[in-house]
Amino acid sequence: MSLPVRCLVLFVVSSVCTIGGPVRAQQKPAPAVPEKTIAIRAGHLIDGKSDKALDNVLIVIKGDTIVSVAPNGTPPAGIEIIDLSKATILPGFIDTHTHVLLNGDITAEDYDKQLLKDSIPYRAILGARNARIALENGFTSIRDLETEGAMYADVDVKKAIANGEVPGPRMQVATRAMTPTGMYPLLGYSWELKVPTGVQYADGVDGARKAVREQIMYGADWIKYYSDRKYHFEADGVLHSMVNFTDEEAKAIVDETHRLGKKVAAHAIGSDGIAAALRAGVDTIEHGDGLTESEMDEMVKRGVYWVPTIIVGAYVAPGRGGNWTKMVDLEKAAFQKAANKGVKIALGTDAGGFDWKEINAAREFQYYADYGMSPIQAIRTGTSVAAELLGWQEKLGTVEPGKWADLVAVSGDPLKDITELQRVKFVMKAGVVYKNDIH
Ligand SMILES: [Zn+2]
Repeated sequence: MSLPVRCLVLFVVSSVCTIGGPVRAQQKPAPAVPEKTIAIRAGHLIDGKSDKALDNVLIVIKGDTIVSVAPNGTPPAGIEIIDLSKATILPGFIDTHTHVLLNGDITAEDYDKQLLKDSIPYRAILGARNARIALENGFTSIRDLETEGAMYADVDVKKAIANGEVPGPRMQVATRAMTPTGMYPLLGYSWELKVPTGVQYADGVDGARKAVREQIMYGADWIKYYSDRKYHFEADGVLHSMVNFTDEEAKAIVDETHRLGKKVAAHAIGSDGIAAALRAGVDTIEHGDGLTESEMDEMVKRGVYWVPTIIVGAYVAPGRGGNWTKMVDLEKAAFQKAANKGVKIALGTDAGGFDWKEINAAREFQYYADYGMSPIQAIRTGTSVAAELLGWQEKLGTVEPGKWADLVAVSGDPLKDITELQRVKFVMKAGVVYKNDIH
């Protein structure tokens, strides 16, 4: 009922109601935000554009949108003022690789247990809790990259947040992800048992196209597929892998997804899996530990984003053993080369691969700085670059007039100490304050 009303109002006010209107309205934060005007006094502002922080800035917000950002500005008379004059404000963080339906999977048992013992409704309840944790840590938008056997429950978590029923970041979701038959858990159970699978199995060109159509029908904003598995080092020192889909199948996934106006994320860890994903024409490479220099050059040329998810590799390595520790070191070297070559690196953590309650995903910023980025570069991976990856750069990623009022604040100076980003004290999403521990 609300969509036609919203549509009508928009039409009267600004004539922007088009056939695409209701779809876009779903993406917008739906909580009924009163169109009141408030102002924030920011001691310092890292606006996401400038290399330096600006001092003593007044940010004026109307409804869910920033209307002005003025150094030494004076607030309009009679409006509510939030005093953050002792804090540093930044754009809301964006995590471009999460799993709200997952709660840590260092071992196969951790993973199987969740799919076998927890119902999808129970997992969705935890998903809502995880979304709240993300928001409280400063992540006002996330791209959730598959439900790990929880079917389309990410669409429901997104809907509950968008309708204002539970607090959480605005979401883009990938629903079920896909591999060919037998190339993703749960595996190893008796053939007499019907066990759930962590992805949708899709085989052949027609099967791949149909799976894409089905997932988009049920609400996928992105299509994700697993390009490879079985990661191993060979004598050339390169991390190799076994490629899952034939080139024809992978190209069909990408072609069908693009034809329907969506984008594709490929899980690709070994150099073979990355090469196959690039041949298929994907939009983002997830993990990418085994990136070679020629693959980096290809990504620069085609504008493909890399989402490194360093935090999860470092977290699972001790528990998984094998090649995983060596892969963390390899990825560090790849990160430094890719950053120098100008690969578009967007912050993503794989939260859910580690327990949401144990680790603050903003730790990922610290890895990027430790790996050689300046603090401002690291901040951009999780703000303006990530906003571009989502296609929301007109509305997110920087603090500027016309953008959604998604802001976080910290007490210290993150340009001097990047770990400040793990101590977010204030969170605003779409003009609504969800956390304010600044006194
Ligand atoms: Zn993941």
